[in-house]
Amino acid sequence: MEPLSAYNMKNVSPWKEKPPTFSILGVRVDNIDRSTAMKSVRRYIANRRDLPARTIYFTNVHTIHLARKDNEFLRCINRADTVLPDGSGLTIAGKLFGNPIQENLNGTDLTPAILAEAQTKGWTVFLLGARPEALRRCEEQIKLRFPRLRVVGSHPGYFSSSEESDIVRSINNERPDILLVALGSPLQEQWISANVERLDVGVCLAVGGLFDFLSGVRKRAPLWMRRVGIEWIYRFFQDPSTKWDRVFIEIPFFLLLVLLKRFTPRSIQMFIGNLRLSHGK
Ligand code: UDP
Repeated sequence: MEPLSAYNMKNVSPWKEKPPTFSILGVRVDNIDRSTAMKSVRRYIANRRDLPARTIYFTNVHTIHLARKDNEFLRCINRADTVLPDGSGLTIAGKLFGNPIQENLNGTDLTPAILAEAQTKGWTVFLLGARPEALRRCEEQIKLRFPRLRVVGSHPGYFSSSEESDIVRSINNERPDILLVALGSPLQEQWISANVERLDVGVCLAVGGLFDFLSGVRKRAPLWMRRVGIEWIYRFFQDPSTKWDRVFIEIPFFLLLVLLKRFTPRSIQMFIGNLRLSHGK
């Protein structure tokens, strides 16, 4: 695992020394709870000077799968300022590796808490991603839920690379405290990583399908499913044609690798570490 850069650690960490970071199959996880994650957000915004922006990502079985296939993506995740554990796959892995996950934190649940605080603190927010209609409805819902929140700009996803400079310029014109990037993985982390050095933003969060959920375009799983840790089953049935591989390939393969890593000798682990599964995506 890559060490945290001196820049990332300098004056911005809410921890006195090193954060309780460990790695699952080479991918960094900051094993912190919600209130510590909120402290990080506050710190990043309070300590913002100039460029580059701070970054918060969420690691789940899908991003670990992507990172194992693509070293550049792996580096991109491991270089973030904060990488939060998302999903029951990580909970299982944390238990097996003797490092129980303190709290399951995903962008869809954490971001509304950040927006609520943004409303009271006067932090500004910029939204990037999703289909235009979903983004429009998401902004309407945000206005209803957080009437005093200052959303200073938005731009839908599915843009071409020739539009990127204009998008960055319109973000920087507003100097938002928070930039929510909802382009799905790996695109959102890659986009942030490619642009972070020129983004005049307090903190960027990679939030996946958040705008679809806030807009009502997609439904969240019932609370009991989220509590039990099986929201992924609900998401699969909502969109089987694009999510089937997450359920039938990524989750079983992840569990197999974690079990093998936990219960096999090191020499065999080195062989496993070199295994890559490619199935198109
Ligand atoms: N999206 C986008 N641009 C793209 C691809 C996807 O804005 O080029 C949006 C998409 O409309 C959706 C979100 O990114 O709102 C991806 O949601 P998903 O739940 O699939 O995220 P993931 O689980 O992959 O992080």
